[in-house]
Amino acid sequence: MSDTYDDQNIFAKILRGEIPSFKVYEDDDTLCFMDIMPRTEGHCLVIPKTPCRNILDATPEQLAACMKTVNTVANAAKRAFDADGITLFQFNEGAGGQEVFHLHFHIHPRHDGVAIRPPGKMGDMDQIKANAAKIVAELPA
Ligand code: AMP
Repeated sequence: MSDTYDDQNIFAKILRGEIPSFKVYEDDDTLCFMDIMPRTEGHCLVIPKTPCRNILDATPEQLAACMKTVNTVANAAKRAFDADGITLFQFNEGAGGQEVFHLHFHIHPRHDGVAIRPPGKMGDMDQIKANAAKIVAELPA
């Protein structure tokens, strides 16, 4: 296994517009889009627009840009789903649970007493699209 950045990873393809995504938020340095195998209602992902594999090779600038977007989207998602809290997941290398090797942060709106679902189950695309719109509607103007 290589620990260098592979520009054929699925998120690099999303960034280049080669495959579709349900966009939630974008600025000069980051993109946020819905996870297509959502483990919570409103599960979305924040990525830097520039290449890096994960937290281990990210620059301070990439991390700062991602955290700014996480803050913005997490607040919008909390409002959109009337959530009680937010869980942030971030995995590094296979042993750390990473499957897509472009740095990303998972944002999960959480409700008291409701468990995060297991990974790996494809979501309903209409529902995911509707959930994206709910978050977008709560972003700051
Ligand atoms: P991980 O690398 O383990 O942090 O997880 C990668 C995440 O990417 C998983 O939650 C997948 O459901 C998600 N994922 C994989 N392919 C796509 C895609 N084309 N669009 C959106 N999310 C995806």
